[in-house]
Amino acid sequence: MSTSPGRERCAADEAATEHPEITYIGCARCGTLIAGLDGRYACSGCGWVNEWTEGYRPLPGDRGRGA
Ligand SMILES: [Zn+2]
Repeated sequence: MSTSPGRERCAADEAATEHPEITYIGCARCGTLIAGLDGRYACSGCGWVNEWTEGYRPLPGDRGRGA
């Protein structure tokens, strides 16, 4: 593979992939179809929320990786 020096990461490309993706899931508790962002859900009907760790990527501002 050829690596292009000087262009490790383009800010524009990174911003383009930062927009949240809307997904849908059935509530694990009451079965209502609810929408979520990046795999994170909160049911307005019964208050069920899934673990944020089930999301597609770490929360914004999370700097706890790379260790
Ligand atoms: Zn629910």
